[in-house]
Amino acid sequence: MLQNETLGSPTAETEPRILVVTSGKGGVGKTTTTANLGMSIARLGYRVALIDADIGLRNLDLLLGLENRVLYTGVDVFEGQCRLDQALIRDKRWKNLALLSISKNRHRYNITRRNMETLTDSLAGLGFQFILIDCPAGIDVGFINAVSPAKEAIIVTTPEITSIRDADRVTGLLESNQIYNVKLLVNRVRPDMIQQNDMMSVRDVQEMLGIPLLGAIPEDNQVIISTNRGEPLVLRKKLTLSGIAFENAARRLVGKQDYLVDLETPYKGLFQRVQDFFLGDEK
Ligand code: ADP
Ligand code: MG
Repeated sequence: MLQNETLGSPTAETEPRILVVTSGKGGVGKTTTTANLGMSIARLGYRVALIDADIGLRNLDLLLGLENRVLYTGVDVFEGQCRLDQALIRDKRWKNLALLSISKNRHRYNITRRNMETLTDSLAGLGFQFILIDCPAGIDVGFINAVSPAKEAIIVTTPEITSIRDADRVTGLLESNQIYNVKLLVNRVRPDMIQQNDMMSVRDVQEMLGIPLLGAIPEDNQVIISTNRGEPLVLRKKLTLSGIAFENAARRLVGKQDYLVDLETPYKGLFQRVQDFFLGDEK
């Protein structure tokens, strides 16, 4: 049995929540979502493991600023080259957050369902309470294997028709893999464009897909700045609107209150207005 000092004693009796973050269309914000939700959930006090299953396009390590620390990967664990705890990179800012990259390079080790399931079982044994899998784009065999241990899914889409159509396809695929607990995250929302009738509102997107809404994230240049700095938005001292929106989605995911910020802060009113606006409730 693997031991882990940093994470304390394993709570094997509680099953972890295993979620896959997926989309269908690439480049819509899966990795951004995995990094920011993962970091937020860790900050709420849970033990969180993030799995980068996007082989070949691995970049979750970059978003988290952990790229220099990836020595071993999941493939090394599967091949018996190292132990799981050696491949897990613990975040120095939040020690209850860990990252596991499945593969460092494009060499395509044939990762099986069994590999992924053994991995999540071992992570459960280490006491992780949330396991978020950043999924490869597309719907090939890599996708099927990556999602196999998941019990829940977060589908990321932008309010564009191509992304929505691909999200709808993925919903069907998840269902055929017995994943029925699916939530929607609408990313890169532009209130100005919605107002001009140039973009679908979040409510329109949600109604088209018929999936419960976890959150809506605005288009925000800070997302790109954060990516380049390797510092998730939700760690910023002065939160941006997109950071607040991610925090909010994380709180909803763990079943806490919807709004992170309290009445005293100016952000709440602002965020509430934006959220209402996204949902088309503005007066
Ligand atoms: P995926 O993992 O689905 O391929 P990423 O999370 O890597 O997508 O995001 C793709 C690109 O879009 C990145 O350059 C990222 O910085 C940018 N991006 C994602 N979400 C937003 C947003 N809300 N506002 C602005 N840029 C965003
Ligand atoms: Mg990605």
